[in-house]
Amino acid sequence: MTIEIDWNNLGFNYMNLPFRYISHFKDGVWDNGELTRNNQLIISEASPALHYGQQGFEGLKAYRRKDGGIQLFRPNENAKRLQRTAMKLRMPQVPVDKFIDAVTQVVMANENFVPPYGSGATLYLRPLLIGVGDIIGVAPAREYLFTVFAMPVGSYFKDGLYPAPFVITRDYDRAAPLGTGGAKVGGNYASSLEAEVKAKEASYADAIYLDPSTHTKIEEVGAANFFGITYDGEFITPKSPSILPSITKYSLLYLAEHRLGLKATEGDIFVNELDKFAEAGACGTAAIITPISRIDDGEKAYYFGSEKVVSPLTQKIYDELLGIQFGDVEAPENWVYRIS
Ligand SMILES: *Cc1c(COP(=O)(O)O)cnc(C)c1O
Repeated sequence: MTIEIDWNNLGFNYMNLPFRYISHFKDGVWDNGELTRNNQLIISEASPALHYGQQGFEGLKAYRRKDGGIQLFRPNENAKRLQRTAMKLRMPQVPVDKFIDAVTQVVMANENFVPPYGSGATLYLRPLLIGVGDIIGVAPAREYLFTVFAMPVGSYFKDGLYPAPFVITRDYDRAAPLGTGGAKVGGNYASSLEAEVKAKEASYADAIYLDPSTHTKIEEVGAANFFGITYDGEFITPKSPSILPSITKYSLLYLAEHRLGLKATEGDIFVNELDKFAEAGACGTAAIITPISRIDDGEKAYYFGSEKVVSPLTQKIYDELLGIQFGDVEAPENWVYRIS
């Protein structure tokens, strides 16, 4: 098959690749799962995933190394997070081995679509767990589907990192204090769409949510965690049960301490203390890091470095993580999973 893809100009768009994975859970057990060419799911119109949001998902990438091989970044962490999401929504757990096997099969079956080293592009993987079947009463499903599809995605920032302005929203919460904020579920996104659309209409990269009970502390961005680096070199990220525990965030915390020699902590970040940060960013698998140039909060604005140039420590930690993900920089133990 000949593939004509402009690897240097990919966005974040669905692409119907040849193969995806599907496994069914029925009568209390998972089947073996298989690759399929069919990109349509046929499910009951009464499926709990459709009516009551009983679903969870993951996002991770496969990276092409310089030697042509392919590797995943901490896939066991994605597998464990999907298990925690499943527990929270009363869904059956996908075993870690089954998760990694499914992801590996999808990457290898679509190997021609793993972008070349040097393009900055990667193969994005989207595992999905949904409750299906003829249950219209409010109750956990008895049948489930676990699927994984893939699509090549561009390096988020074609010309390198570029700082962007964000806005604090006080009109919306993405999750309740004891709600599902810590689980990677579609419902959190449904409740953040309006705030995100409004933020983008006002030319911001995205909205920043505050802690839902007091609205005094930074929680996270719609689909990314928040971090700040203080003038005296402390890397801080918010700690809260209603934040989605980002694997990128925990990787940055580790690298800040062990590779950059910074003090790294999870703790409260009060809005009225944002002035102590020299640098700030949003982090997640899709963009890795989006440097934050400015945060607006009503009439007040907080600035972090230049609006044009990435701040030095943000650039350094980004380069370190990207280097590890593509296999150019030595990885901490068990961070990379070579599949070819
Ligand atoms: C997935 C996600 C993130 C980023 O997590 P990573 O594991 O770093 O990709 C951050 N916030 C929300 C709400 C998410 O769903």
